[in-house]
Amino acid sequence: MKNKIAVVTGGAGFLGSHLCDRLIQEGLKVICIDNLLTGNIANIEHLFGNEKFEFIKHDVTNFIHVPGKVDYILHFASPASPIDYLKLPIQTLKVGSLGTHKALGLAKEKNAVFLLASTSEVYGDPEIHPQSEDYWGNVNPIGPRGVYDEAKRFAEALTMAYHRFHNVDTRIVRIFNTYGPRMRLGDGRALPAFVSQAIKGEDITVFGDGKQTRSFCYVDDQIDGIVKLLFSNVNEPVNIGNPSELTIEEFAREIVELTNSKSKIVYKELPVDDPKVRQPNIDKAKKLLGWEPKVDRREGVLKTIEYFRKILV
Ligand code: UDP
Repeated sequence: MKNKIAVVTGGAGFLGSHLCDRLIQEGLKVICIDNLLTGNIANIEHLFGNEKFEFIKHDVTNFIHVPGKVDYILHFASPASPIDYLKLPIQTLKVGSLGTHKALGLAKEKNAVFLLASTSEVYGDPEIHPQSEDYWGNVNPIGPRGVYDEAKRFAEALTMAYHRFHNVDTRIVRIFNTYGPRMRLGDGRALPAFVSQAIKGEDITVFGDGKQTRSFCYVDDQIDGIVKLLFSNVNEPVNIGNPSELTIEEFAREIVELTNSKSKIVYKELPVDDPKVRQPNIDKAKKLLGWEPKVDRREGVLKTIEYFRKILV
């Protein structure tokens, strides 16, 4: 991978920054582009001064200029938690549509491999369970989550159009719930919310009756799957996630236990269109990429708790 150059949009975000680290480890030079709307410079601070790393502060919904050759473009820029995209609905729609268009345009110009960070949200509130890639989804286009779901669905359509019409070598990863160090404490997602509430001894806010399910993947496994997909020749979408499913109420109890907290669980209103179930079918990733997650949830959650304890002091 020596002399290969990758552009990572959203490279200062949770997944983007882990991806920058991993690609540099693989020997690539990484150009990280981020407008720092939800990204955090602290996530990439350790890379400043590394000759294999360059940071450009830029909003990728505008024309992206990168001089010289580029071999890979990984489009990870987007608000990515329900609270973020409720606060930033227009930016979310723009980065998924205009941003994907600009990133694909760059890939076409540079003859680079393009990887789209898509999402399990393309399945919406799913009617089939677990979700496999051939399921078309159940998304409310005009609901508050629609700004994210539809932007990502459009991004997938645009990626396939650039692949079919312009012969761009593309990949689409459908990322299921992922957690780990560098998640933003205030991003409103279940894990950061529960861990910070548990550490501070505050009530744990479970939304709805807590019977909705999710399946949480540790970040190192997720990045491993994404990198395997990037270096494969698979153009169709591939789910990457951990099939180990549990209810949100069970997850809250697990976090209370693992933090040794005395917090009690309280129940709050369920957000609109909150999916009732979610679990990836990862047969395709296993078969085509030889990938499956390795990190047990309790082990991963403990590592993440350690990270949050450090940033909370
Ligand atoms: N959730 C919760 N309490 C919180 C934050 C989230 O009960 O403080 C629930 C949320 O309603 C959803 C699940 O946890 O059912 C996972 O939410 P998250 O925002 O992490 O991601 P999602 O899978 O909904 O995109």
